[in-house]
Amino acid sequence: MIQSKLKQIFGYDTFRPLQEEIIQNVLNKQDSLVVMPTGSGKSLCYQLPALEFPGLTVVVSPLISLMEDQVMQLRAVGVTAVFLNSTLDYVGHDWVADQIRSGEAKLLYAAPETLVQPRTLALLAQCRVDCLTIDEAHCISEWGHDFRPEYRQLVDVRRRLPTAVCLAVTATATERVRQDIKTSLDISSAHEFVASFDRDNLLLAVEPKTDGLAQTIHFLQAHPDESGIIYCATRKQVDFLAGELARRGWPVLPYHAGLDDATRRTNQRQFINDDVPIMVATIAFGMGINKPNVRFVLHYDLPKNLESYYQQIGRAGRDGLPSDCLLLFSYSDVQTINYFINEQHPSQQQGARARLEAMLGFVETNVCRRRPLLNYFGEAYDQDNCETCDNCTTEAGDLVDLTIPAQKFLSCVKRTGELFGVNHIIDVLRGSQNQKVLERGHDRLSTYNIGLEFSKKEWQFLARQFVQQGLMVQDMEYGSLKLTPQAYAVFKGEPVRGTLPDKPQAVPSATDYANYDQALFQQLRQKRKALADAAGVPPYVIFSDRTLVEMATYFPQSRASFGTLYGVGEAKLTNFADDFLPVVQAYCAANGLAEVRKSAPTTVSASSSTPGGRTVEVLNLYNNGRTLPELCQQYNVKPSTILNHLWKAVQAGETLRQSNLLEHSSLSPAQQQQALAAFAEHGAEFLKPVHTALNETVDYEELHLLRLHFISQQTL
Ligand code: ADP
Ligand code: ZN
Repeated sequence: MIQSKLKQIFGYDTFRPLQEEIIQNVLNKQDSLVVMPTGSGKSLCYQLPALEFPGLTVVVSPLISLMEDQVMQLRAVGVTAVFLNSTLDYVGHDWVADQIRSGEAKLLYAAPETLVQPRTLALLAQCRVDCLTIDEAHCISEWGHDFRPEYRQLVDVRRRLPTAVCLAVTATATERVRQDIKTSLDISSAHEFVASFDRDNLLLAVEPKTDGLAQTIHFLQAHPDESGIIYCATRKQVDFLAGELARRGWPVLPYHAGLDDATRRTNQRQFINDDVPIMVATIAFGMGINKPNVRFVLHYDLPKNLESYYQQIGRAGRDGLPSDCLLLFSYSDVQTINYFINEQHPSQQQGARARLEAMLGFVETNVCRRRPLLNYFGEAYDQDNCETCDNCTTEAGDLVDLTIPAQKFLSCVKRTGELFGVNHIIDVLRGSQNQKVLERGHDRLSTYNIGLEFSKKEWQFLARQFVQQGLMVQDMEYGSLKLTPQAYAVFKGEPVRGTLPDKPQAVPSATDYANYDQALFQQLRQKRKALADAAGVPPYVIFSDRTLVEMATYFPQSRASFGTLYGVGEAKLTNFADDFLPVVQAYCAANGLAEVRKSAPTTVSASSSTPGGRTVEVLNLYNNGRTLPELCQQYNVKPSTILNHLWKAVQAGETLRQSNLLEHSSLSPAQQQQALAAFAEHGAEFLKPVHTALNETVDYEELHLLRLHFISQQTL
């Protein structure tokens, strides 16, 4: 029965892990403590029971913005929810009180300090409360990272509500904090539900930071029109990066504690409402952000520990769709963090250093990144290949003999006195004329200019391996490299084996998640934005991206099939089918598309893309003479998908046969020539500059096609 409510109200087909057990437990009035990562669906664990209980469900929440957001989302699915907090005036308060007394409201959200007020307690005494939910329950513990004294008083509230089952939920809780929560709320016999901390829709990758700005732009190119957060370590860095990106036409806003309140609020609102999709921020940003369609999180600087990293990437992909998390790593960031650790109280330094070490372990690992990450949170990860981290998706490659490059690198470290970091060593090896090299006379060393066979980036890749293999150690404070006894063995001829940096860093792209129709998706997004603006709510309150992706995948033609989509329950079917169905129908009519039956309750998911094999296959067929339309037909996919494969192949260094892709373009010959000229001028690596140069008159799908044509002509 609760299963049918899941679809009817919330529009979901299946429960996520643990949800059903927790809900049963709550319905049986057994106190429960739930520890589940961000985005795993904790809210449903009390929202669904709230609809079953005859009485009221009270939800304590520390953040006003989150409270309002949840109430808005519940109203959008037809559930009456209200909130009480310090922002309400008397009239507002009276209205809420009426809704509660009359039994109209099923859920009441309240800030802890509001809840413990006598008038709130008096109000609750007049009605039946069936469930008391404590959200962010770790705030009750002094051992947590977010202690709030008001939370301590909640145990009194709980005692006053004898008919209410108590449900404490949090996304972070060590064993000690868990015990603390139970004791402080007096629910010592509560059942504990601890979910895996693995968020398998997050694609994890780390890249050495060589040119942060260029890498950021490259990354953003791979995410056109997507919403995401770029985290920087300092306000200064935020201002710099946001400025540079804005100057190049990227839709970004800054966020940090140095901005005044009003600016921060406006910027946050613009981000949430999809008016400005990219936020460049310090860690001050993110608390209380419930935006489900954050498609990427880029760490421009190294986070100081895995807790921060995990919390920040946790803001991506709450809707369950693949989301891209990239960390740019440089050893100089380690020095900066060390500097701040040294400023801390001595009693805290050791712990902070250990946490930084663990962070580095994650960055430098060459096994699946989920291992060190989950390990850190006390969870063993036993799969060999997660398929969604850079280490697992880059084919291991055969180990090759690296003895010569190792000898070159290590002897350069030795000859420069074991005083320098990776980049200086590489400069010497590659014969750089920079001041630091010349001043120190390093251009006269025998290791000067003997390493031109590798690029700077490639040497960095190799150097990481030498560190990982224990041939040298890096001083965490100054970044300098020192040789270990093993290095001396290498000088004597001990072989070194490892991987060559020959393959491009295959960061999986989140936009690969399904072969959905991009053009239709854009139209649906516009529709959603218009409706959201008219109603004064963020777009995701209307529908999540995932629902739109399903519309652009299954092309529903009737209300019945519209109702089967992810996130479409009764209320949203009633309220929005008439807005979105015509868009889909008109698009299908114009493009000769038919409805695709949505099979079983598994929907578009991360697993629907299989790069690698398919890309090679498509490339080979294409180079053997198959045309674009023929390939579309053969694979039953849109041209954009085939173009994607071809582009990936090109990026991997493959050559395209010469052909006239222009015959598939819908532009006039004059426009085509203009676009090709723009590629000649701005280069073909990125689409955005060309898009801008053409005054945004040519859409990305066209540009994709033209770019490949352009490239195929280059290979004469
Ligand atoms: P948390 O509170 O754990 O961070 P939320 O409760 O906000 O996560 O849920 C994250 C997202 O997952 C929301 O968009 C929610 O609607 C969605 N969701 C929750 N349960 C399910 C489910 N069973 N199937 C599909 N989506 C779900
Ligand atoms: Zn992995």
